[in-house]
Amino acid sequence: MDAYASFYQRSIHDRDGFWREQAQLIDWHVPPTQVCDYSKPPFARWFVGGQTNLCHNAVDRHLNDRADQPALIYVSTETGHEITYSFAQLSDEVQRMAAILQSLGVKQGDRVLIYMPMVAEAAFAMLACVRIGAIHSVVFGGFASHALASRIDDASPVLVISADAGSRGGKVVPYKPLLDEAISLSKLPPQSVLMVDRGLTPFHRVDGRDHDYAALRQQHLNARVPCVWLASEHPSYTLYTSGTTGKPKGVQRDTAGYTVALAASMQHIFVGKPGEVYFSTSDIGWVVGHSYIIYGPLIAGMATLMYEGLPTRPHGGVWWELVEKYRVTHMFSAPTAVRVLKKQDPALLSKYDISSLKALYLAGEPLDEPTAQWIADGLGKPIIDNYWQTETGWPILTVANGVQPMPSKFGSPGVPMYGFHVKLLNDHTGEELTGANEKGVVVVEGPLPPGCLQTLWGDDERFVKTYWQSVPGRWVYSTFDWGVRDADGYFYILGRTDDVINVAGHRLGTREIEESISSHPNVAEVAVVGVADQLKGQVAMAFVVAKDSSGLADAGARLKLEGEIMKLVDSQLGAVARPARVLFLSLLPKTRSGKLLRRAIQAVCERRDPGDLTTIDDPTPLQQIKDQLA
Ligand code: AMP
Repeated sequence: MDAYASFYQRSIHDRDGFWREQAQLIDWHVPPTQVCDYSKPPFARWFVGGQTNLCHNAVDRHLNDRADQPALIYVSTETGHEITYSFAQLSDEVQRMAAILQSLGVKQGDRVLIYMPMVAEAAFAMLACVRIGAIHSVVFGGFASHALASRIDDASPVLVISADAGSRGGKVVPYKPLLDEAISLSKLPPQSVLMVDRGLTPFHRVDGRDHDYAALRQQHLNARVPCVWLASEHPSYTLYTSGTTGKPKGVQRDTAGYTVALAASMQHIFVGKPGEVYFSTSDIGWVVGHSYIIYGPLIAGMATLMYEGLPTRPHGGVWWELVEKYRVTHMFSAPTAVRVLKKQDPALLSKYDISSLKALYLAGEPLDEPTAQWIADGLGKPIIDNYWQTETGWPILTVANGVQPMPSKFGSPGVPMYGFHVKLLNDHTGEELTGANEKGVVVVEGPLPPGCLQTLWGDDERFVKTYWQSVPGRWVYSTFDWGVRDADGYFYILGRTDDVINVAGHRLGTREIEESISSHPNVAEVAVVGVADQLKGQVAMAFVVAKDSSGLADAGARLKLEGEIMKLVDSQLGAVARPARVLFLSLLPKTRSGKLLRRAIQAVCERRDPGDLTTIDDPTPLQQIKDQLA
């Protein structure tokens, strides 16, 4: 791996030279005068003095050479909708949407919240925002009213773009009532709502506030809205993610650094070229959807396949059928999806002509070896694990086959990517661990490379406090993941150091779920813990002390209260956050000083030894958990 080793070393030791070269991969209106300003660590300003535009690099730049080539392939197996937009058609749609945004008063720097299912209009909306310098904030469609309201309050958008409904497994999932409720809960309601009416379900329109996309599009059919040249550091978007506290964190991304980082990743990591087809099965509500459904593939001049539907419907081979039909070259998914497919007939993996496919990239949660082996054998293609976070925007650990062919090791996402000065720290002493197979916290020495978060929206102090530790002379960013490195420099990720859990690749804060459950009138105290699950990697389990437990000896009464609590979480946060089980305890297992024994609860649920319990105040609740699970 000599070529990659020197490529990586150069990215760390000749940082500016390295990224100056990478910056050539994109179009600039004004080239930068300085590569990295790290004079106020841990804040890094990339490509200072430059001006560019993300939408220009994703769409307009390709109009000269490949206007008629496919840019966005939209497939919904839920509605049967299937349409391909060329770069020229995508450009037209994005400009229409940009004109609509302007007509609704959206200006540079304004926030636009996008709460949408997987429809092509969501892609137009994102690209239209960055085209005119509005800052989009996509909220995952699976989130419900309270989760949405807290994000509206933090982003204070002037406009929300939404749709009547999504569809999942053939079932219509209405969005508008949740949005209306979120707006009524919000302290800073938006002035306007733009509604894409898919005709899936009737919905209530608020006069003067709600606008119809189809009608406005008709008025702006011939719109020409040029890209606004933006300073490198102009925020392109915010994306909310979970942390230790209940309040979601608005990860803020810049314009130029992100564009350069994605262009570089498409070349060095994903090895994608114009004319090829990228199919990421994620959702635009997650970071993978931002970087590798919308921006990355388009920046590279590839077509991107945007998919609404399940991997198993109308049949378990639907993804491979799409690979065959559209000659997909790159696929990106999550281990959970592969575990779902594992339950299908393995013959489906070889039923279609997938000869166009070069590799399957998997990320978002640990990729267990049996799953990796199963899909590798079934497809006969390279399976490439990659580890990153909402915060980083692109992979921290993987292999960079575009620099040099690199071996993958099952169970390991790979080695540090160029630009990420990855280290392992002893969590007690803060000292760097340099030996093989020593467990530590995965950290990145600042500055973070281009494309990572600039700060948390509106909260520089929280950004510094949450992620950064200053050791004399340097700043380190914590990933909040445990890891080890083997003798070959490959890392293995061993789980989070904080109370964040990962359910089917979806990152959830246990605190947020606890806050929701606490709002039930009969809940005195609650703890939510992530517990290992065969299919989803982890599931949330809730442990509740009821205010009035008099009736709870009866199994029927317990089941009823459990159902009420699950419904409450569904309606406030969304089904993604719903605990798999709610168990009722007489008290929570705590130490004598009152600290919740999360690890002990988790161990008991996973039928492992709970370890040292000498500090436990009262072991009764652990026994209650055992009894109820038995
Ligand atoms: P998110 O910000 O939602 O992308 O979640 C990031 C977290 O997911 C990381 O901090 C890890 O805990 C986990 N994660 C992401 N990718 C991987 C991977 N390839 N292997 C293991 N864990 C991963």
